[in-house]
Order: sequence, then C-alpha cells, then structure tokens
Amino acid sequence: MVCYFREEENGLECIEGMNRRMQDFKKPSRLRVFLDKHTLIHIWVVRLLRLLSSRSTCPFCDIVQGKAPGRVLYQDDLVTAFWDAHPYTSIHILIVSNRHIESTNELQPGDLSLIGHFFTIAGRLAEKENLVDDGYQLMINTGFDAGQTVFHLHMHLRDMESL
Ligand code: AMP
Ligand code: ZN
Repeated sequence: MVCYFREEENGLECIEGMNRRMQDFKKPSRLRVFLDKHTLIHIWVVRLLRLLSSRSTCPFCDIVQGKAPGRVLYQDDLVTAFWDAHPYTSIHILIVSNRHIESTNELQPGDLSLIGHFFTIAGRLAEKENLVDDGYQLMINTGFDAGQTVFHLHMHLRDMESL
C-alpha cells in the first residue's frame, strides 16, 4: 500500500490510501511517498519477471539468427522467409521481421518501409512458387483470439490447396 506523508511543523502526518487527491496537500508542505515492504517486493518481482521474459527465447528470432534449424527460403536486412513447420496448405511460407516485434500492435510510423517490404517480398516469393496465376493468401494474426501463437511479427503466405 502507498502511504502519503504530509510534513507538518510537529512532524509527519500519515494520510493513507491512494484516493486522497493531490490538492489536499497544502503548500508549502512537502509531499513524500513511502512504499511499504510488500509493495517494494511486488515491484521487484514484476521487474524480475520482465527481465526474464525479455530474455526468453523466441523460436523465430532463433531461426532469423541461425540458432535454430529452419527451412529458410529468403533473407535480407529486414525480413526472413522460411517454410512453416506445420503447414495448412501445400505451400505455406512464413515471412518474419528480423527484428523482434511482438505483433502489428507494436508497429510504429518508422516501420513503414518494413511493412511495405513484407508485401513486396511476399509477392516475389509467390511469383517464385508459381502462385501468381492461381492466387494465394497473405495473412497476419494479431493476438490470442485471432490465433496468434508465436508472438513475433509474421505473415503467412499460403496457396489455396489444402493438405
Ligand atoms: P500464428 O498462429 O499466426 O502465430 O502462426 C504461427 C505459425 O508458426 C504456425 O503456422 C506454426 O506452424 C508455425 N511455427 C511455429 N514454430 C515454428 C518453427 N520453429 N518453424 C517454422 N514454423 C513454425
Ligand atoms: Zn522473436
């Protein structure tokens, strides 16, 4: 719990709780915030979990960096394309960003060239796999409900021939 203290002439007056509005503190009293033991432990546990999760391995980062086997078809400075390990259709390619980006939710205006590159490379790979005449699907899942299972930005390139 957070405890707000107001400094008075005769010592510190404790005003507990988060609901107290800042206006309640009269100038020139100085506001100090003290955190109790449990809150401090909670903050450090959250920091530790964040640190551990940021270091946890990502299967697509491993493929991009050549640390894990992947049937890589194409790679340049921005993206890597490889065959999906569990294809839904006879041709099922994944195009992933080389940089670890969790999903489209994390994309920034500075990523415009990367976004364009995804489509350009998808078109080239479709051409290479002779899909241009018959047609193909490009799909990006974002979030659990949409079926995203690997939280590293990727685009599915699939033909229309079910397995
Ligand atoms: P999504 O459900 O949109 O997150 O798609 C993830 C895709 O990644 C699925 O189609 C999986 O079959 C595929 N996948 C997961 N791990 C690997 C891997 N190590 N190598 C290749 N494809 C993978
Ligand atoms: Zn990654």
